[in-house]
Amino acid sequence: MPNRPDVMDKLVSLCKRRGFIFQSSEIYGGTGSVWDYGPLGIELKRNLQERWWKEMVRSRDNVEGLDSAILMHPRVWEASGHVSGFVDPMVDCRNCKKRFRADDPKIKGTPGTPDGQCPACGMKGTLGEPRQFNLMFKTFMGPVEDSAAIIYLRPETAQGTYVNFLNVQQSTRQKIPFGIAQIGKAFRNEITPGNFIFRTREFEQMEMQFFVEPGTDMEWFEYWKSERMRWHRGLGLAEDRLQFHQHSESELAHYARAAFDVQFDFGGSLGFQEIEGIHNRGDFDLSQHQKFSGKKLEYFDQGTNKRFIPFVVETAVGPNRTLLALLVNGYREEAVEGEDEGRVVLGLSPALAPIKAGVFPLVKKDGMPEMARKIADSLRPHFPVFYDDSGAIGRRYRRQDEIGTPFCITVDGESAGGNSVTVRDRDTLKQDRVSVDSLREYVAQRISE
Ligand code: ATP
Repeated sequence: MPNRPDVMDKLVSLCKRRGFIFQSSEIYGGTGSVWDYGPLGIELKRNLQERWWKEMVRSRDNVEGLDSAILMHPRVWEASGHVSGFVDPMVDCRNCKKRFRADDPKIKGTPGTPDGQCPACGMKGTLGEPRQFNLMFKTFMGPVEDSAAIIYLRPETAQGTYVNFLNVQQSTRQKIPFGIAQIGKAFRNEITPGNFIFRTREFEQMEMQFFVEPGTDMEWFEYWKSERMRWHRGLGLAEDRLQFHQHSESELAHYARAAFDVQFDFGGSLGFQEIEGIHNRGDFDLSQHQKFSGKKLEYFDQGTNKRFIPFVVETAVGPNRTLLALLVNGYREEAVEGEDEGRVVLGLSPALAPIKAGVFPLVKKDGMPEMARKIADSLRPHFPVFYDDSGAIGRRYRRQDEIGTPFCITVDGESAGGNSVTVRDRDTLKQDRVSVDSLREYVAQRISE
């Protein structure tokens, strides 16, 4: 398959210019690989998160929601294996002081030997021996900065779910199989972050842990694999940009019985990369927490009178990375018939687009602005709309195309007499004449498709 073009630089600039994503603390020169979501970015991210919540929690009677804290007892991370095992091998260049993951494919030769070559400055023999680097952020709880008060910013939301397994099960009286889902921040001191919001040090996760009877785990694993791929397709990500990647023996985490990634083709040199992981974690997590906490984490099956530690099938997706996939997937530049200037379109699905409709008067006279404002005000309680009366109508359309607004509603010379407007479709450029009274229903129906 031919390499898809790299649109990352164009997206970074569009996202800043139009208020999707800004560099964190930009006026101070920026914070490394941390990003802020602007007015349009937060709408898009919320739409994505709400869609996940609706699909994974609200539409299922066997999945419960949870919002656990970022700060947890430090023993949690000993039990989970993160203190000893959440490490990446890292090498430093003695010459240019840059730092890399030891397995960075750009490194030529072997680090720590004379033929190891620094990918940044090009010097040979300047890369040190690989050292293990823990990716968890450490901080202190309370006023005393000693080791007794060390606490971590969580590197994943899943552990908050495991330690609450019995709280949720007993308070909801769920029976196995059932799941617990949450959306929340996670932090990883990544050695080589980058590619815009693809790999950042602060990000969010949408994770669901599904607790099952041992022996039924592979069946559930297959079920969730297909459910999750269906969800990604439903976002409008192109079929041929999505694929599964099965973890080989050497890639599998020590506790994992099976793991598949959902990968998306980001184009350019990034190509296919993970956006979601689906893991069969066996009873590793609950057994570890039972051991380290000394508290029983067994499930009692009343039907069979048996006690057991459930197996866990996990689905873990990053909203930030998926949002980037949506931007890459949707970005296109196209020529417009009869016009010198082409247009940039963000082909987001109408359900996810941050603004659902632009509302414009064709010209700033003859009562058109007043009528257009009234229409915008009447639609605003139902979905995000944007009123715009500045500049030529063509430019106003282009501004909405570029941020993915699916519909542009224009009040023109015929509007007052017939109480109707034109509705322009972002993708087909077709304009329908629609009565003002049925506008809300027209747009609502199209954004729910
Ligand atoms: P990677 O191999 O890319 O580091 P991972 O396998 O460690 O990812 P998981 O722990 O399975 O990732 O986390 C689940 C999801 O969380 C990933 O599929 C991704 O969408 C998101 N994610 C993980 N790390 C980051 C990060 N540093 N920045 C943004 N999103 C991330």
